[in-house]
Amino acid sequence: MTSAQTPPKTLRPDNQGQEAFSVQKTSSEDLNPYHIAQHQFDNAVRYIPDLKAGLRDYLKLPDRVITVEFPIETHDGTVRNFVGYRVLHNRARGPGKGGIRYHPDVTVDEVRALASWMTWKCAVVDVPFGGAKGGVVCNPKELTTADVRKITRRFITALGDNIGPHTDIPAPDVNTNQGTMARIFDTYDMMHPGRNNRGVVTGKPVDMGGSFGRREATARGCLCAAQRALAQGLVEGLDSVEGATVVIQGFGNAGSIAAELFAEAGARIIGVSDSRGGIVCTEGVDPSAALEHKRKTKSVVGLAGTKQVTNEELLTIPCDILIPAALENQIRSDNVDSIQTRFVVEAANGPTTPSADRILFKRGIPVLPDILANAGGVTVSYFEWVQNIENEQWDLDVVNKKLLKKMKRATNAVLNKQQEINGSLAALNGARKKRGVSDKPLEPVDLRTAAYVLAVKRVADVTLERGIWP
Ligand code: NAD
Repeated sequence: MTSAQTPPKTLRPDNQGQEAFSVQKTSSEDLNPYHIAQHQFDNAVRYIPDLKAGLRDYLKLPDRVITVEFPIETHDGTVRNFVGYRVLHNRARGPGKGGIRYHPDVTVDEVRALASWMTWKCAVVDVPFGGAKGGVVCNPKELTTADVRKITRRFITALGDNIGPHTDIPAPDVNTNQGTMARIFDTYDMMHPGRNNRGVVTGKPVDMGGSFGRREATARGCLCAAQRALAQGLVEGLDSVEGATVVIQGFGNAGSIAAELFAEAGARIIGVSDSRGGIVCTEGVDPSAALEHKRKTKSVVGLAGTKQVTNEELLTIPCDILIPAALENQIRSDNVDSIQTRFVVEAANGPTTPSADRILFKRGIPVLPDILANAGGVTVSYFEWVQNIENEQWDLDVVNKKLLKKMKRATNAVLNKQQEINGSLAALNGARKKRGVSDKPLEPVDLRTAAYVLAVKRVADVTLERGIWP
């Protein structure tokens, strides 16, 4: 069964008619990622006084939410049904762009949140894409490689022409990788023979149109952004990652490569974790040894010379830089007080809740937000797409040089935007008073809000330049 819902662009109560989000709530926090994304948006647009109300509502909501259901016959001969989502949040600046996640906790609200974060991320790093995201509710750990391949092929077939090289372009995310992207390309190419379909998906293997540097791009982007922010004096007394102690939660594509690249840049990785737990070693965890151990045993836990900790404990280890690189809602109101870092660099999407953001800001701990810090992935995805259209392959040093330039520029833009907003609060509040706005006065913004303001303004400007159709 396939149902494509294109909700009218009018505001409606959050989550109406949608599946309830399944994560636990802490005493005071709503952990629904879509509610969090909307809260972040609402907070940011208070700092954009000239944004028309109707346009604001349009930018907040997704353009399209697609739900598909499909069966596969699994390795043990049973027929099982799976649900998948593809959300296109906004396409004003270019085709939708965003990863596909395979995870048992995928919900439509998670995908809607991730799609909107893609819109803002692409705008922050200034690549000509909109935002999209996909997910299939499944647990790859319980499935064979052949089962996962069938899920990919059925999911992509069910999405049909709702994805395409110039409309909506998937990429890897949690539990999907180059192999998944190869299957996505192959399935789409079977359905559209006789044309260059390479640009339908990014993060492909290099020998079939993938870009050099894409696998490392998310982590490399994190490093570039962190280096730039530190060099600009964001964290007092810490002007480089060299010599810094680093803790990383999540040891997949983003986390394990971040460990390697930060270590190469002179940082000491003192703790890492995956879904089975964490390991700590104050003298330093060797990232390649941890990777090899994970390859052999499916977890970093048990690596010789390290002490085992829980994932909760890992986040509380005193360190200079904490890199959440797993899932959403890891730093929350109930554990933020025990975080002992000087700088949070969000490799994951949505790891910090709004309440935790506020507390970290008050404590003077800057958070390099996801829509900037992990934008290296989509940036090199964009480079891959350009190479695919041109039937070209750029050398690794060309890709990395271009990535560095984009990340530096985006980091500068976000830091400058924060200063600009915080330097004009009196004027902004004065103007609000004149207009009769009665809610609480604007306060200094953190980097996330600054990045949102930058991004929302860029998308709004293009929307108005194009003109509201018809
Ligand atoms: P991945 O599947 O390669 O790795 C995820 C890792 O997180 C695994 O090591 C897993 O064991 C670990 N993990 C899962 N639950 C955990 C938990 N509760 N505690 C600790 N570790 C846990 O996924 P990825 O591609 O590295 O993505 C990780 C994050 O980075 C996601 O938020 C994703 O959206 C974001 N991201 C990824 C990319 C990319 O290019 N892959 C780009 C931008 C953002």
